[in-house]
Amino acid sequence: MPRRSGRCYDTGLSDTLKPQHGSFLHDTDHKSRLGPVIVSRSDHNISRANISQSALKVLYRLKDAGYQAFIVGGGVRDLLLERQPKDFDIATNADPDQIQDVFRNSRLIGRRFRLAHVRFGREIVEVATFRASGAEPDDERSHSDSGRILRDNVYGTIDEDVWRRDFTVNALYYNIADFSIWDYVGGFADVRSRTLRLIGDPVTRYHEDPVRMLRAARFAAKLDFTLAPETAAPVKELGGLLKDVPPARLFDELLKLFHSGHAARSFDVLRDYDLLRYLFRDTQAVLETPDAEKIAGFIRRGLENTDARIREDKPVTPTFLYAVFLWFPIKALAEKLEREGWHSGQAMLEASQRIVASQQTAFPRRFSSPMKELLAMQWRFTQRQGARAARMLQHKRFRAAYDFLLLRASAGEVDQETVAWWTDIQALPPEEQGKMVGGKGRSGRRRRGGRRRGAQSEITDVVS
Ligand code: ATP
Ligand code: MG
Repeated sequence: MPRRSGRCYDTGLSDTLKPQHGSFLHDTDHKSRLGPVIVSRSDHNISRANISQSALKVLYRLKDAGYQAFIVGGGVRDLLLERQPKDFDIATNADPDQIQDVFRNSRLIGRRFRLAHVRFGREIVEVATFRASGAEPDDERSHSDSGRILRDNVYGTIDEDVWRRDFTVNALYYNIADFSIWDYVGGFADVRSRTLRLIGDPVTRYHEDPVRMLRAARFAAKLDFTLAPETAAPVKELGGLLKDVPPARLFDELLKLFHSGHAARSFDVLRDYDLLRYLFRDTQAVLETPDAEKIAGFIRRGLENTDARIREDKPVTPTFLYAVFLWFPIKALAEKLEREGWHSGQAMLEASQRIVASQQTAFPRRFSSPMKELLAMQWRFTQRQGARAARMLQHKRFRAAYDFLLLRASAGEVDQETVAWWTDIQALPPEEQGKMVGGKGRSGRRRRGGRRRGAQSEITDVVS
């Protein structure tokens, strides 16, 4: 057991204690052996009523079996902020085999570092053994040349576990034994002041894992927190380290940034810290042209729409996300190819192909193929006559492509007449549609009350 050093503080007195608290706890580089500050139940707002039944069961069973059991990470942070946590991660001094002895309904996962998944119906609670942060940075077996952590698999105690965590607000431990919070790094005060502060020396921590820069941007966007100055300072210079991160990991992080309901804010924060280029290099390039404002407005509207869909519990897809980010770079390349003599439709396909192939993040084919189709259809919207237009209407991605057309129109990219034509034709019975594509139909008539409401794809709401 780590010592309970008695450095408990009463939040009622925190104003007087703050300077002292800050002075030693924000020395997060100094691996203090003093033990945690313990915030007792009466001094914080975390109630068991807001913790899932499954997580509570796991915590109590571990405790009853004689082990330490804590909620750690985003769960504690979000409860303090009175937000609904995504999930509850549990940390314990029981090793994986001991965890499995306590829970029949558990499964060990992970090769490099084993942790247990305890299943209750559809809910899975992740239980991890405390971990030390592995060897010291000068041990070459555990770090790459750039200082990246390669091996991180040594079990430890809670007062070792805390130092491998990224931000102080992610390193608070809620103790099921007496409902107190253990705080080794000043995370409690940082939650209150809405500050994101890396534990330890920021430059070292970013080298160990460059994805922490994206995590910083993500948490700033998600929680509306501010980066501590020393946490923010090295980001612009070290952003290039993200080039060595495996594409699949970048893709995971991308989805967390843009499919969690705060996509528009993530976009702003990534731009502020000049990190967008490591996710969408070609998009960053077009954002440095005279058209930047228009393009940023277009992307933002697309992302706001994604955020709105998430609020309404509607599905979202990477196909749209990439379409929104890559449309302008692909268009720019297509125009260049056209100047070199490519036929318009072909130029668009070729440009999609090339831009997709040069992505730094993984972009699985099941998303990239529909995106290419969707973008190629944008060119076909200019073809309003005959069999081609009729085929467009039947296309399985027509709805998505049309919604993307509306998004483009909102950026002033498509003339209103084209939009109105495609809007009108959907509302007509098939025989009337036939007349329209035959060239006889339209006669300047506009349908009132906007477009037809039907099955909506991701782009619709914001722009209609
Ligand atoms: P979210 O609400 O997005 O789940 P979270 O803080 O729980 O936020 P996770 O990615 O689920 O984030 O990670 C759980 C915890 O593991 C974090 O709170 C942090 O303590 C630790 N952690 C995760 N990724 C890293 C990392 N790259 N470096 C250091 N610690 C990390
Ligand atoms: Mg989490």
